[in-house]
Amino acid sequence: MSLRELFEHRDVFVGCIALGRVSRDADAPPHAFPLDNANAITITMLALDYPSLGRCPALAHDGLCSLHAEGKPDQCIAVPLDPLVPDRLQHAVLAQRSHGAGWIGAQCIQPGEHAGTLLLRAGEIVDEEASAAVQRRRHALSVERELWAASLFDALKRDFADPRRALAMLPADGYRTIASVPALIGIGTLSTALARACIDYIDAQTALINRNVAQAVQRRRLDDRPTTQTLRGFSDALLHAGAHLRALPERTATSLLAKKAEAWLLA
Ligand code: SF4
Repeated sequence: MSLRELFEHRDVFVGCIALGRVSRDADAPPHAFPLDNANAITITMLALDYPSLGRCPALAHDGLCSLHAEGKPDQCIAVPLDPLVPDRLQHAVLAQRSHGAGWIGAQCIQPGEHAGTLLLRAGEIVDEEASAAVQRRRHALSVERELWAASLFDALKRDFADPRRALAMLPADGYRTIASVPALIGIGTLSTALARACIDYIDAQTALINRNVAQAVQRRRLDDRPTTQTLRGFSDALLHAGAHLRALPERTATSLLAKKAEAWLLA
């Protein structure tokens, strides 16, 4: 999800930053940051919840998406396509998903042309809604790369002067998650209006984390503990970030970046 989507659904999803590693080849996603000749890092927002729940927090009890009418995330609208994969390789995404465990028995992804939605033809996304969602997701990644991810990557490069050390902290398959604090501090320092928006977001996220952790404590499951620990760490980091943003002097958006951030997050 984008930070903008997480702002919109702040009471539903706990947002965090996901750091991942990808090969630096022709198929690397365009928002990835090159680390060395062979590797690149992806820096994106992610919604995190307890794996033991096995369901998205927006999934209603009737089995439908509770956000359907009020703007579900573009990544969900794009499913089963993957906006992070080039259009010419989407057929491989569909083939893989049609055989994946989560899709077994659904038979909703089939080669050829049938009655119903046609997603791809000759390496092009032909379904208009899916294509628009894929484009919006890619656009969001490129905007947020500029607004906060690029400065986080610069900070990582300073902290890990040796790219091998930076790679060593990232799992080969999956993500390393950290609190969304670097994104919020980077954006919140751009103007007072953005600082207020980030503080409101932090307050909502802290309340949501407290609710989720309280429910986990009641479930008494051992396998919930690592996530509880992670969420408590996020909550502490967010409280410090909120205090930092509240102490900043008043300032208006003068830089181009600040104006872009206000247009992206406050519109
Ligand atoms: S479409 Fe599914 S995964 Fe996406 S927000 Fe709705 S319930 Fe969650």
